[in-house]
Parts: sequence; structure tokens; C-alpha cells
Amino acid sequence: MAASFKPLFLAAALAVSAAAVAGPFDKMFGGDGGSEIDLGSLLKSAKDAFGEVQPEQERTIGREAAAVLLGAVPLVKDEALQRYVNRVGRWVALQTERPDIDWRFGLLDSMDVNAFAAPGGYVFVTKGLLLRMGSEAELAGVLAHECSHVVKKHHLQAVQKGARLDLAVGIAGSRMGGEDRAKLDKIAGGFKELYARGLDKKDEYEADRMGLVVATRAGYDPYGLPATLQTLGAMNPKDGSLAFLFKTHPAPGQRLDLIDAAFAPLDAYAGQPSVKDRFLREVAAAQKRGALEGPGFTLNAAVSPAAARHLHHHD
Ligand SMILES: [Zn+2]
Repeated sequence: MAASFKPLFLAAALAVSAAAVAGPFDKMFGGDGGSEIDLGSLLKSAKDAFGEVQPEQERTIGREAAAVLLGAVPLVKDEALQRYVNRVGRWVALQTERPDIDWRFGLLDSMDVNAFAAPGGYVFVTKGLLLRMGSEAELAGVLAHECSHVVKKHHLQAVQKGARLDLAVGIAGSRMGGEDRAKLDKIAGGFKELYARGLDKKDEYEADRMGLVVATRAGYDPYGLPATLQTLGAMNPKDGSLAFLFKTHPAPGQRLDLIDAAFAPLDAYAGQPSVKDRFLREVAAAQKRGALEGPGFTLNAAVSPAAARHLHHHD
């Protein structure tokens, strides 16, 4: 893609995508949820039996995983800021290999510094992380990292492997009912455990490399994600808001070292905009509305009491 067109194109896309943003976030898992989980229509092909997850199943599984996160930490109640995060996220997601899935982005009401993805296109970032960022390129970089987890199906594979759940067999070919709810609860349990434990390091490094390329393709300064990692690396590692992130991810310094090795081809795009003004304007406006006040919820304790005990032990 011709990078030189991007700054203008970017502005246009952000303006257009406002209309495409779906309804309020609290509807995300609201009343329409049941009808979308149409287990009866899921295919019973031989492929399913051997564990390949079809897109509809991926979506169903993703809803359960996202519900685990949203059950622990609600979204920041500020529609304008959620819309902004979605605009940036959707523009970034369009540059991935899966532009066609129904991507949803959400800002979580927690001062913990973290970001999450769930299968099928759900991506979350905490307000604690957003407040550490200085530009839209940083937000785009973090969202591109999370989108890359979705594109590469890292969580799906990890849960299948880790929980020894044959997800495809577990939910394919059965009708919605009590039994299916039990299967979905089992899936949710697998994700709860995964979010507490984190992905393999190699998946994180892959998402870093891919995220860099995706954010660059979206027209942003490729240094966005590295800038955020630098900020986190410079924070006191004993800072409680980092505990969960540090437990589930490689150290920022290690990630930066590996990014450095992959960075050379992207250096030519370093002149792309970081879109600082718009980002700071959006955040400042949200702060003025009181949307980012308060510590919010604690992710580690809420997602997994076991993980929280573990972290407390190390303090
Ligand atoms: Zn990650």
C-alpha cells in the first residue's frame, strides 16, 4: 500500500467510520446475544470433529471470552471516547488479513495497565494504559498488537491446547439449551484461566511484529507500540497497576529488543504521523467529562482470584 496517501486517507476513514460504529457498548452482550448464538446451525463437518473452529463458532467462543473480561471489568461509560477507540481500532483492523470480521473495541474501566483480545474480533484496552499513551499512533500500535492475536487465533489455540477442550466438538451440532450453556460455561472457564496465565511468549512477540506492520500500513508512525513499551519499561516494575501485565507478558525491554530486530524495513515509514493532537484532545475532553476519574476496577483480582493471590505473594 502506498504509504504517502495515508494521512489524508486516515482522516477520511475516521470520519466515515463513525456511522459504521455499532450501537452502545452495553448492548454488546445484551438482549440480542441469545439469538446470535445459533448453535443449531453450526456445521457438523469432519473438520469440526478434528478441531478446526469455524467462523461462527469462533464468534460464539469470542463472545464468551469477552463476557469473562466484561464480567470482571465494565467498559468506561463514555460513548464519545468508546466511539473514538472504535474508530481507530476499526481503521487498524481493516489493514489486517481479516478486515471482514465484526471487530469491536472497548475501553475498560480499570487503572491497571493492560490490553486484551478475544476470538472473533473483540479487543479491549484499559483506561490505565490509555492514560500512559501520548498519541494515536501508540493507541493504534497497541490495538494492532491485539488485532494480531485475533488474526493468528492465538487465544483460541491456547484454550484448545491448555484446557484440553475440544471446542469445536463441544459446541458443534447441538441445540441451544441447558446443556449448551454448560459447554459455553466450560469455554468461559478456559478463557478465565488463559487471561490469568497469559499467552506463550512467542505469540506475544509475533503479535508485536505483526502489530508494527499493521499500524504502519494504517498510516501511523511505526514507533507507536515501541513508544508505549518504552513508557511501561520506564515505570517502576513494582507499580501495582503493572503486576498483571508483567505476569502475563514478556518484559517490555525484551519485547523492544526483538522489535528492534524486526524494525529496519519499517524505518522508511518513521515520518508517518503520530496524530498526537487528536488523541490528546479526545482524552482531555473525556477527562473534562469526568469519564476517566477514579481507579475503576482491578483486573487481576477480578479475572482470577487465584492469580491475585499469586501476585500478592510476590509483593
Ligand atoms: Zn499480547
